[in-house]
Amino acid sequence: MLHRRVIAVRGLVQGVGFRPFVHRLATRLDLKGFVRNDAQGATIDVEGEEDALDELVRSLQTEAPFPAAVSGVRQQSKPLCSYDRFTIADSHRDTHDTDAAPVPVTPDLATCAECLEELGDPESRRYRYPFTNCARCGPRFTIMHAVPYDRSRTTMAAFAMCDDCRREYEDPRDRRFHAQPIACPRCGPTLTYRTPERWLDATAVREGALTAALALLRAGGILALKGIGGYHLACDALDVEALRRLRLRKGREAKPLAVMVADAAAARELCRIDEREEELLESAQRPIVLLSQRESHAQHIQCALNELVPAVRTLGVILPYTPLHHLLMAEFGGPLVMTSGNLSEEPICHDDDEARDRLAAIADGFLTHDRRIASPCDDSVLARTPRSGPAGGAAGHALFVRRSRGFAPRHIVLPRPSPEPLVALGGHQKSTFCLVRGGAAVLSHHIGDLAHPAGYVSLRDSIASYERLFGIDARAIAHDLHPDYLSTRLARELSGRSIAVQHHHAHVAACLAEHGLHERAIGIAWDGAGLGSDNAIWGGEFLLVEGASFARLGHLRYVSLPGGDAAARQPWRSAAAHLWSAFEGDLSRAPSAWLSRQEAEKLDALSTVLQSGLAGPPTSSAGRLFDAIASLIGLRDTSRFEAQAAMELEAIADATTERSYPVEVDERAEPWWIDCGPMIRAIAEDISAGRSSSEIAAAFHNAVRDIFVVGAEHARDQTGISLVALSGGVFQNVRLVNAASTALVERGFTPLLHRLVPPNDGGLALGQAWVAACVLRDGAEAPCA
Ligand code: ZN
Ligand code: ZN
Ligand code: FE
Repeated sequence: MLHRRVIAVRGLVQGVGFRPFVHRLATRLDLKGFVRNDAQGATIDVEGEEDALDELVRSLQTEAPFPAAVSGVRQQSKPLCSYDRFTIADSHRDTHDTDAAPVPVTPDLATCAECLEELGDPESRRYRYPFTNCARCGPRFTIMHAVPYDRSRTTMAAFAMCDDCRREYEDPRDRRFHAQPIACPRCGPTLTYRTPERWLDATAVREGALTAALALLRAGGILALKGIGGYHLACDALDVEALRRLRLRKGREAKPLAVMVADAAAARELCRIDEREEELLESAQRPIVLLSQRESHAQHIQCALNELVPAVRTLGVILPYTPLHHLLMAEFGGPLVMTSGNLSEEPICHDDDEARDRLAAIADGFLTHDRRIASPCDDSVLARTPRSGPAGGAAGHALFVRRSRGFAPRHIVLPRPSPEPLVALGGHQKSTFCLVRGGAAVLSHHIGDLAHPAGYVSLRDSIASYERLFGIDARAIAHDLHPDYLSTRLARELSGRSIAVQHHHAHVAACLAEHGLHERAIGIAWDGAGLGSDNAIWGGEFLLVEGASFARLGHLRYVSLPGGDAAARQPWRSAAAHLWSAFEGDLSRAPSAWLSRQEAEKLDALSTVLQSGLAGPPTSSAGRLFDAIASLIGLRDTSRFEAQAAMELEAIADATTERSYPVEVDERAEPWWIDCGPMIRAIAEDISAGRSSSEIAAAFHNAVRDIFVVGAEHARDQTGISLVALSGGVFQNVRLVNAASTALVERGFTPLLHRLVPPNDGGLALGQAWVAACVLRDGAEAPCA
C-alpha cells in the first residue's frame, strides 16, 4: 500500500548537492514525488511503500554527503496524489515567517579532488579551465544574491549554459547535477590579464593571461589576483626585493604576510606540521593556518622569512582553493605571498572597477575574470594549540584569529531564541556584525577596520545585503558602549531599539553563546581596550556574567596612561605609566637601560601630565601591560601594528622557564584588583641583574597565568561558580591559552575557550547579539555593572 509524506528538512542543505543526493536516494528506493529548496531548507514531497519512506528519512540523516548537514527532519502524512516519477522542482520561496531561523547559506568550498583531476586531464573538456567546479565544490556565498540557492539568484546568471553543461546539470547521475556555478571554457567565465596603464587591451585568452601573470611574478612584480571573495596581492615569497616593494606600496610595514604553497609537502619545507594542522590546511574551508617555522633554513629562505614575518616564529600558510590557484601554483613552483588586496586594514577589494582604482598604485598587473563577486570574503585564519595538556584544556584546539571565507556566513545556534530579529554591530577593529532571527545567529565575514571610511561603507552595505539574503528585518540594534566607535555611530542611523552592550560583557557572552550556555559563569575578558561602565578604559577584567547582566568582580589595578589611543602604538608610554605606578611617581628608579633609551623631553612631558593628575581616563588594559613589558625589556618601544609588541613578547619567551612574578589580590577595593606593581618592580630588578629577555618574557607569561588562576579562585570564592569563560584578544596568545587552561583544569575549574568565533573583537558581535536577545526576552533594561 502506498503512502504520501511531506518531509521538511532543516540544516545546511542548499548548494551542497543535497537535492541530487535525495534524487538518487528516492530513485533507489522507488519513490515518486519531488524535492525542492525552500526558504528554510528543503522540502521532499514523496509517495511510496511505508518501509521505503522510513528508509528515506533515515538515510537523509545518516548518508547526506559532506558538506551537507541535516539538523532536523519533520514529516507529515498527506492524501495520495499519484506522482509518476521523482523530480527536482524549482525552488519555492515562502512568505515571511519572522520567527523561523533563516535558511543556512553555504560557505565557499575549495576545489574537490575530482575537479582537480579534471583540471590536469588533457582529455577532459575542462582541462586547465580555471573556473571548474561541481556540486561539491566552488563558490557559493560569494556569488549569491538571494536564497533559495539557484543559478538565477547568483552572479552566474549572466552566463548561459552551453548544451554540454546543460546536459550535466540535468543528469541526476552526474557530479554536476544542479551544480549552480557549473561552467566550461565554452560557456563560463574567462580569465584576463591587464596592466594598470593598458587596462582596456586585455589579454583575454586564458593561457595567454596565465602566462603573462606568471611572467610578471617571475620578474618580481606584484600581481592583483581575483579569487573567490575578492582580490589578493601576490608576489614571489622568496624574493626579498619584491616583498619590500609590496610592503611599501601596501602600507603594511611589518605585519606578517601569509604565503600560499602548492600542497602540504611544500608547507612542510617551511614549517613543522602535525596531522591536525595538515587536516586543517587541506580542509574544504582552506583557511590560513598559523604554523611554527622550521628551526633552520637555507640562507635565502631565512632572509625571506625575516621579511615575511619579522620577529615571530610562526608563518601563515594556505593551500590553493580555486582551480586558478592550482594552475598558478603548479606553474610557479615556489611559495607566493597571498595577502588581501587592499591598503592596510581596509576591506578587501571585490568589485573590478574599485579594484582597478584602489590597487593600481600597488599592483603591476591584474589577473582577473568576469564572474562577479556578490559578497566579499577574506581568507579565514586559524592557529592550533600544542597537543599535550589535560582533558578539558586547550590541547589540540583550533583557535580562530579571523573567521571569514569557508565559515561565514554559517550560523551559530544561540542558547535560546531571540523574541525579535536583531542586528549586532560589533566593535571598531576586526569588524564583523551578527544578524539574529529565532535561535540562529549569522555572524558575518570579516569586514576590516572601521577607522577607514571604506570599512564603514562596507559594514553598512554588507548589513543591507545580508538582511536581503537572509530575509531578516532587524528590529533591535546592539552596539558597543563606546560613543566614538563608527559601529555605534551606524547604530544611531539605523531604526530600531538600540541596546548598548559593554565591551567585555560582550566578549564573555560570545564565548558562552557559542557553547550554547545560558547559565552564570565567571568571565576572564582580557584585551587591549574597551569602554567600561565607569568610563575608564577596561581590558583586564574578571566578570560574573549571566545573560543580560553582568557584575565586575575584579580587574587589573588602574594606571594612568596619557595619550589615549596613541598609547597603543607606543609601548614606551605604557612602560612609563606602569613604572610611574609601581615606583610611586619616581621614574628614576626605572631600569637604567630602559631610561637611557627614552627621549628625555618626551619622558619629562609625560611625567608632567602624570603629575598633574589630568592624564585622562585610567585603564586596566591587559594589552598595555604586555606593551609595557615589551618596552621594559628592550624588545619594542613603538609598534607598527596592533598587538605587535605582545606577539613578539610571546615569540621570544623561552619554553623552559618556570619562574613567575608575585601576584596578589587586593581585597580592600570593591571590585577587587590585582596590582601589577610588585611584578613591575621584580622585572626591573631582573633587568638590572642581567637576566635575559627571553627568560623575563617567559616568567611574565607565567605570572599572567597565575593572575588568571588567582583571580578565578577569588571569583569562585565569591560566587561558588567554577565555569570560566576566557575571551578577548589576549586569548589569541597560544602559549597563554594553553598555560591558563591547563592551570585552571588542575584547580578544578571548567575553562571555556572559543571554538567557533575568534576571541578577539571579530567575535564581539556574537556576544552583543546574545546579550541583546536576553535583554529583549527578559525585558531587562540595558545591562550595567
Ligand atoms: Zn568539484
Ligand atoms: Zn559549458
Ligand atoms: Fe576587545
